[in-house]
Amino acid sequence: MDKTCKHIVFLTGAGISAESGLSTFRSEDGLWNKHRVEDVATIEAFERQPEYVHQFYNSMRPELFAAQPNAAHLSIARLQKELKQHKISIITQNVDTLHEKAGSNNIYHIHGQINQLVCLQCGHVSETWAEAHSTDVCPNCHTQGNIKPNIVFFGETPLCLDVVDNLLKTCDLFISVGTSGVVYPAAGFVQIAKLYGAETYEFNMEKTSNNYMFDHHIFGKAGSTLPTFIDELIAQYQ
Ligand SMILES: [Zn+2]
Repeated sequence: MDKTCKHIVFLTGAGISAESGLSTFRSEDGLWNKHRVEDVATIEAFERQPEYVHQFYNSMRPELFAAQPNAAHLSIARLQKELKQHKISIITQNVDTLHEKAGSNNIYHIHGQINQLVCLQCGHVSETWAEAHSTDVCPNCHTQGNIKPNIVFFGETPLCLDVVDNLLKTCDLFISVGTSGVVYPAAGFVQIAKLYGAETYEFNMEKTSNNYMFDHHIFGKAGSTLPTFIDELIAQYQ
């Protein structure tokens, strides 16, 4: 670790939320597994059966609303509070709000958020944990039937990519936590960060597919390994 580091970027994925009990797209016992991706997570499915897709995300909201951040989320928030002179950003693939609940800021949800709705007509984004329906009226442009869960469906472009690209190119330390390394564009973020000179760490349960791009590998549950690492960072930089 370099003591001159001024800008730290975290990339977090499903693995960090799994330790809070949230199932993921790819887990075998998860909520997702009871539905086919092409029925609930593509824009074609939404155009074909908007109410069915809304019901699916409506059914997910209570679990995600109740979920609590774990030691890994809390340690990142602690780092942001302790190292006030550093820029510390979080790019997350997760649609839950566990980083927010942990007290973090500078969070970029590239796959959207479960507690947001977007209007396909005017682009207005609203926050809510309430149920949404295909008959809902946009609070901004007042058209009916254009409200979509603000979740990036397969085939759609991830959000905030311009900001994310800038973060990756300017960070000194890139720390990936609980991502499989197979879902693009996030799987390529480590390459950009490393190309532009960042030191790179991965925290994962096992080796990832783009493993060779990381300078350091820490295997195990992030809820155990990350707080220890963050304590060391804080001690070094303070
Ligand atoms: Zn609208």
